[in-house]
Amino acid sequence: MKTINFLTNSRPKNLQFAVIGLGRFGRAVCTSLHKMGYEVLGTDIDEKLVTQALTQKIASHAIQLDSTEPESLKEAGIFEMDTVIVAIGNYLQESIITTLNVKEAGVELVVAKASSEIHGKVLRRVGADRVVFPENEAGCALASTLTQPAFLERFELDTENSIVEVLVPKAFHNQTLAQLDLRKRYGVNVLALSNGDKFITNLNPGQVLTEGLVMVVIGSNKNLQRLPI
Ligand code: ATP
Repeated sequence: MKTINFLTNSRPKNLQFAVIGLGRFGRAVCTSLHKMGYEVLGTDIDEKLVTQALTQKIASHAIQLDSTEPESLKEAGIFEMDTVIVAIGNYLQESIITTLNVKEAGVELVVAKASSEIHGKVLRRVGADRVVFPENEAGCALASTLTQPAFLERFELDTENSIVEVLVPKAFHNQTLAQLDLRKRYGVNVLALSNGDKFITNLNPGQVLTEGLVMVVIGSNKNLQRLPI
Protein backbone atom coordinates (compact mmCIF):
# COMPACT_ATOMS: atom_id res chain seq x y z
CA MET A 1 0.00 0.00 0.00
CA LYS A 2 1.35 3.33 -1.08
CA THR A 3 1.20 6.03 1.61
CA ILE A 4 -0.02 9.47 0.68
CA ASN A 5 2.83 11.30 2.32
CA PHE A 6 1.02 14.59 2.46
CA LEU A 7 1.62 14.80 6.18
CA THR A 8 5.32 14.04 6.01
CA ASN A 9 7.21 16.73 7.79
CA SER A 10 10.44 15.88 5.98
CA ARG A 11 13.70 17.72 6.44
CA PRO A 12 15.35 19.35 3.41
CA LYS A 13 16.94 16.87 1.00
CA ASN A 14 20.38 18.49 1.01
CA LEU A 15 21.10 17.68 4.66
CA GLN A 16 24.41 15.97 5.35
CA PHE A 17 24.79 13.22 7.91
CA ALA A 18 27.74 11.47 9.53
CA VAL A 19 27.42 8.17 11.33
CA ILE A 20 30.23 7.37 13.77
CA GLY A 21 30.47 3.67 14.51
CA LEU A 22 29.49 1.08 11.92
CA GLY A 23 28.09 -1.66 14.17
CA ARG A 24 24.67 -3.12 13.34
CA PHE A 25 22.87 0.03 14.49
CA GLY A 26 25.22 2.46 12.72
CA ARG A 27 25.06 0.44 9.50
CA ALA A 28 21.26 0.39 9.61
CA VAL A 29 21.15 4.19 10.04
CA CYS A 30 23.64 4.65 7.14
CA THR A 31 21.74 2.34 4.84
CA SER A 32 18.36 3.96 5.49
CA LEU A 33 19.58 7.53 5.08
CA HIS A 34 21.54 6.61 1.96
CA LYS A 35 18.52 4.86 0.44
CA MET A 36 16.43 7.96 1.14
CA GLY A 37 18.91 9.89 -0.99
CA TYR A 38 20.81 11.78 1.72
CA GLU A 39 24.54 12.35 1.75
CA VAL A 40 25.97 10.11 4.48
CA LEU A 41 29.52 9.75 5.71
CA GLY A 42 30.16 6.54 7.66
CA THR A 43 33.17 6.23 9.95
CA ASP A 44 34.66 3.60 12.20
CA ILE A 45 37.99 2.93 13.87
CA ASP A 46 37.89 -0.54 12.33
CA GLU A 47 39.24 -0.46 8.79
CA LYS A 48 37.40 -3.66 7.88
CA LEU A 49 34.00 -2.14 8.64
CA VAL A 50 34.88 0.95 6.61
CA THR A 51 35.87 -1.15 3.60
CA GLN A 52 32.71 -3.20 4.01
CA ALA A 53 30.59 -0.03 4.07
CA LEU A 54 32.19 1.09 0.80
CA THR A 55 31.84 -2.32 -0.86
CA GLN A 56 28.23 -2.66 0.18
CA LYS A 57 27.55 0.97 -0.78
CA ILE A 58 25.65 1.71 2.43
CA ALA A 59 27.03 5.30 2.59
CA SER A 60 28.10 7.99 0.16
CA HIS A 61 31.57 8.04 1.75
CA ALA A 62 33.33 6.03 4.46
CA ILE A 63 36.47 6.92 6.38
CA GLN A 64 38.51 5.11 9.02
CA LEU A 65 39.16 7.32 12.03
CA ASP A 66 39.32 7.40 15.82
CA SER A 67 36.44 9.66 16.81
CA THR A 68 37.97 10.45 20.21
CA GLU A 69 40.51 12.60 18.33
CA PRO A 70 38.99 16.00 17.47
CA GLU A 71 41.64 16.59 14.77
CA SER A 72 40.60 13.44 12.90
CA LEU A 73 36.95 14.44 13.05
CA LYS A 74 37.78 17.91 11.79
CA GLU A 75 39.89 16.59 8.92
CA ALA A 76 37.10 14.26 7.85
CA GLY A 77 34.68 17.19 7.71
CA ILE A 78 32.45 15.82 10.46
CA PHE A 79 32.07 19.23 12.09
CA GLU A 80 30.44 20.62 8.93
CA MET A 81 27.68 18.02 8.97
CA ASP A 82 24.12 19.03 9.83
CA THR A 83 23.54 15.90 11.90
CA VAL A 84 25.98 13.48 13.52
CA ILE A 85 24.84 10.12 14.84
CA VAL A 86 27.15 8.65 17.47
CA ALA A 87 26.46 4.94 17.05
CA ILE A 88 28.92 3.61 19.59
CA GLY A 89 26.94 1.78 22.24
CA ASN A 90 29.34 -0.57 23.95
CA TYR A 91 32.38 1.66 24.38
CA LEU A 92 31.23 4.15 27.00
CA GLN A 93 34.33 6.28 27.11
CA GLU A 94 34.59 6.53 23.31
CA SER A 95 30.89 7.28 22.97
CA ILE A 96 31.01 10.07 25.57
CA ILE A 97 34.21 11.69 24.28
CA THR A 98 32.95 11.53 20.69
CA THR A 99 29.63 13.14 21.60
CA LEU A 100 31.45 15.87 23.51
CA ASN A 101 33.83 16.44 20.57
CA VAL A 102 31.14 16.90 17.95
CA LYS A 103 28.88 19.01 20.12
CA GLU A 104 31.74 21.26 21.26
CA ALA A 105 32.70 21.79 17.63
CA GLY A 106 29.21 23.18 16.99
CA VAL A 107 27.37 20.42 15.12
CA GLU A 108 23.72 21.44 15.23
CA LEU A 109 22.07 18.09 15.83
CA VAL A 110 23.89 15.28 17.64
CA VAL A 111 22.07 12.01 18.19
CA ALA A 112 23.77 9.44 20.41
CA LYS A 113 23.04 5.79 21.05
CA ALA A 114 22.96 4.79 24.72
CA SER A 115 23.34 1.32 26.11
CA SER A 116 21.91 2.09 29.55
CA GLU A 117 19.98 4.76 31.47
CA ILE A 118 23.10 6.16 33.08
CA HIS A 119 24.94 6.18 29.76
CA GLY A 120 22.02 8.17 28.32
CA LYS A 121 22.16 10.65 31.20
CA VAL A 122 25.86 11.28 30.67
CA LEU A 123 25.36 11.69 26.90
CA ARG A 124 22.75 14.37 27.56
CA ARG A 125 25.10 16.10 30.03
CA VAL A 126 27.87 16.29 27.43
CA GLY A 127 25.49 17.85 24.92
CA ALA A 128 23.67 15.15 22.94
CA ASP A 129 20.50 16.72 21.53
CA ARG A 130 18.78 13.38 21.31
CA VAL A 131 19.60 10.08 22.98
CA VAL A 132 18.25 6.82 21.60
CA PHE A 133 17.90 3.44 23.26
CA PRO A 134 17.36 1.23 20.18
CA GLU A 135 16.77 -2.11 21.89
CA ASN A 136 14.32 -0.57 24.32
CA GLU A 137 12.57 1.42 21.59
CA ALA A 138 12.37 -1.61 19.29
CA GLY A 139 10.81 -3.65 22.10
CA CYS A 140 8.19 -0.97 22.82
CA ALA A 141 7.49 -0.52 19.09
CA LEU A 142 6.96 -4.26 18.68
CA ALA A 143 4.51 -4.30 21.56
CA SER A 144 2.63 -1.39 19.95
CA THR A 145 2.43 -2.99 16.50
CA LEU A 146 0.94 -6.08 18.09
CA THR A 147 -1.75 -4.16 19.90
CA GLN A 148 -2.29 -0.77 18.27
CA PRO A 149 -3.17 0.49 14.77
CA ALA A 150 -0.23 1.11 12.46
CA PHE A 151 -0.26 4.76 11.44
CA LEU A 152 1.06 5.30 7.93
CA GLU A 153 1.71 8.95 8.68
CA ARG A 154 1.42 11.09 11.75
CA PHE A 155 1.27 14.87 12.02
CA GLU A 156 1.60 16.01 15.62
CA LEU A 157 -0.57 19.03 16.29
CA ASP A 158 0.84 19.29 19.82
CA THR A 159 2.13 16.81 22.39
CA GLU A 160 -1.33 15.29 22.87
CA ASN A 161 -3.18 15.56 19.55
CA SER A 162 -2.43 14.32 16.06
CA ILE A 163 -3.75 13.85 12.57
CA VAL A 164 -2.94 10.35 11.32
CA GLU A 165 -3.33 8.28 8.21
CA VAL A 166 -4.41 4.76 8.94
CA LEU A 167 -5.77 1.87 6.88
CA VAL A 168 -9.48 1.22 7.38
CA PRO A 169 -9.55 -1.61 9.93
CA LYS A 170 -11.29 -4.90 9.20
CA ALA A 171 -13.86 -4.13 11.86
CA PHE A 172 -15.01 -1.03 9.91
CA HIS A 173 -15.37 -2.77 6.53
CA ASN A 174 -18.60 -2.06 4.66
CA GLN A 175 -19.98 0.22 7.35
CA THR A 176 -21.00 3.85 6.96
CA LEU A 177 -19.56 6.69 9.02
CA ALA A 178 -23.01 7.08 10.60
CA GLN A 179 -23.08 3.42 11.63
CA LEU A 180 -19.55 3.57 12.99
CA ASP A 181 -20.14 6.76 14.98
CA LEU A 182 -16.41 7.11 15.59
CA ARG A 183 -16.75 10.42 17.40
CA LYS A 184 -18.88 8.83 20.07
CA ARG A 185 -17.19 5.44 20.22
CA TYR A 186 -13.56 6.50 19.92
CA GLY A 187 -13.54 10.29 20.31
CA VAL A 188 -11.98 10.81 16.86
CA ASN A 189 -13.10 12.44 13.61
CA VAL A 190 -12.49 11.25 10.04
CA LEU A 191 -11.30 14.18 7.92
CA ALA A 192 -10.79 12.42 4.62
CA LEU A 193 -10.63 9.09 2.82
CA SER A 194 -8.27 8.05 0.08
CA ASN A 195 -7.69 5.12 -2.23
CA GLY A 196 -4.03 6.10 -2.56
CA ASP A 197 -4.62 8.48 -5.49
CA LYS A 198 -7.46 10.82 -4.63
CA PHE A 199 -8.93 12.16 -1.42
CA ILE A 200 -12.59 12.54 -0.59
CA THR A 201 -12.66 15.42 1.87
CA ASN A 202 -16.32 16.34 2.05
CA LEU A 203 -17.52 13.17 3.74
CA ASN A 204 -21.19 12.56 4.34
CA PRO A 205 -22.57 10.26 7.05
CA GLY A 206 -23.59 7.70 4.42
CA GLN A 207 -19.99 7.26 3.24
CA VAL A 208 -19.08 3.57 3.31
CA LEU A 209 -15.63 2.56 4.55
CA THR A 210 -13.93 -0.39 2.89
CA GLU A 211 -10.77 -2.27 3.74
CA GLY A 212 -7.79 -1.02 1.75
CA LEU A 213 -8.89 2.63 1.88
CA VAL A 214 -6.85 5.06 3.96
CA MET A 215 -8.58 7.26 6.53
CA VAL A 216 -7.21 10.60 7.68
CA VAL A 217 -8.26 10.88 11.31
CA ILE A 218 -7.89 13.65 13.88
CA GLY A 219 -7.99 13.12 17.64
CA SER A 220 -6.02 12.85 20.84
CA ASN A 221 -3.12 10.38 20.70
CA LYS A 222 -4.83 8.38 23.42
CA ASN A 223 -8.05 8.04 21.46
CA LEU A 224 -6.30 7.36 18.15
CA GLN A 225 -4.52 4.44 19.75
CA ARG A 226 -7.86 2.94 20.74
CA LEU A 227 -8.81 2.40 17.08
CA PRO A 228 -8.87 -1.31 16.23
CA ILE A 229 -5.99 -2.87 14.25
P1 ATP B 1 25.42 -3.18 17.48
O1 ATP B 1 26.35 -3.84 16.52
O2 ATP B 1 24.63 -4.14 18.28
O3 ATP B 1 24.60 -2.13 16.86
P2 ATP B 1 26.64 -1.10 18.85
O4 ATP B 1 25.95 -0.11 17.96
O5 ATP B 1 26.45 -0.95 20.31
O6 ATP B 1 26.31 -2.56 18.54
P3 ATP B 1 29.34 -1.09 19.32
O7 ATP B 1 29.79 -2.48 19.49
O8 ATP B 1 29.18 -0.26 20.50
O9 ATP B 1 28.08 -1.10 18.42
O10 ATP B 1 30.34 -0.34 18.37
C1 ATP B 1 29.98 0.38 17.25
C2 ATP B 1 31.20 0.63 16.43
O11 ATP B 1 31.91 1.71 17.00
C3 ATP B 1 32.17 -0.53 16.34
O12 ATP B 1 32.23 -0.97 15.00
C4 ATP B 1 33.49 0.07 16.80
O13 ATP B 1 34.59 -0.33 15.98
C5 ATP B 1 33.25 1.55 16.65
N1 ATP B 1 34.13 2.35 17.51
C6 ATP B 1 34.48 2.10 18.77
N2 ATP B 1 35.32 3.03 19.22
C7 ATP B 1 35.49 3.92 18.22
C8 ATP B 1 36.26 5.11 18.05
N3 ATP B 1 37.02 5.59 19.05
N4 ATP B 1 36.20 5.73 16.88
C9 ATP B 1 35.44 5.27 15.87
N5 ATP B 1 34.72 4.15 15.96
C10 ATP B 1 34.73 3.48 17.11
